Amino acid sequence: MFDNKSGEYRRAFAAYLRKGTPIKRLGKQEAITTHYIWRTRDDDKVRASHAANEGRVFAWDSPPPTGHPGTDFGCRCYAEPYDPSTAEYLTIRLEGVSDSVTPWTSRDFVRHYFQGAGRSVTLRETGNLDRIVKRYMEYAEEGTLNAIVSAARSNPVGRYSDYFENSYDMTGIVFSIGDTTVRGDFFGTCELDGENIITRGTIIFSLNDAFEDPLDVGIEVIDIEETIFENILRPIEDHGRSRFGFLPSGPKREGIYTGEPYKISDTWTGAFEGRIRVNLLESTFK
Ligand SMILES: [Zn+2]
Repeated sequence: MFDNKSGEYRRAFAAYLRKGTPIKRLGKQEAITTHYIWRTRDDDKVRASHAANEGRVFAWDSPPPTGHPGTDFGCRCYAEPYDPSTAEYLTIRLEGVSDSVTPWTSRDFVRHYFQGAGRSVTLRETGNLDRIVKRYMEYAEEGTLNAIVSAARSNPVGRYSDYFENSYDMTGIVFSIGDTTVRGDFFGTCELDGENIITRGTIIFSLNDAFEDPLDVGIEVIDIEETIFENILRPIEDHGRSRFGFLPSGPKREGIYTGEPYKISDTWTGAFEGRIRVNLLESTFK
């Protein structure tokens, strides 16, 4: 027999509801937990309401508004067993990461360079905040968690604050965004609970970048790929054509039209909460 609170049973029951797969009796029992951590497949296909649940702890007795993982039609999310009396965890829930426009392409960044008169832009105004933040979290989530843990451990009762700052290469996302600096200022509170520190707090992220001379990029590229030509050189040519009525002459791009460099920046926040071992040797967070 298995207990109907076990994860295996839940998964089997979810599969039964979805596909009519008969519920099998399983020889090996999974540890029975009252809670679970919501896990998504962490790809583009995860629906937004489920992505928002990633890493959060829920009780089997009290499903979130989305229902339990795996129960909604087509849902591939799953429940990771979680024992609140012993488990360590630290999760960050990002807030305010939303774009309101169709993402600018590299061409749009170049256009703003020539036509924007140096006006600063926010990343969300360019429609690229969500993608850049996702990439950033891939690079930096572990380091961010470790920074919080080490600040919390150094002051396990009361308040703490600190910051981290780093540069990241974001050119794979938008050609025009290069080395991007992200700083996180975080503020937390701690209390002791036996062998554990319970902590929660807020991170304010701020991103800074600048779009400078796109010709710097073009000149260094000897064998010009079509994508680069499309993204960078063609808009310059088009711009020249409309402004001066003729194309820039020849393959040399020195000394043709200049634009105004502009700043690209944005801020967003994250709420974090967690339970971490006081003893470093027993902890998964180093
Ligand atoms: Zn799902």
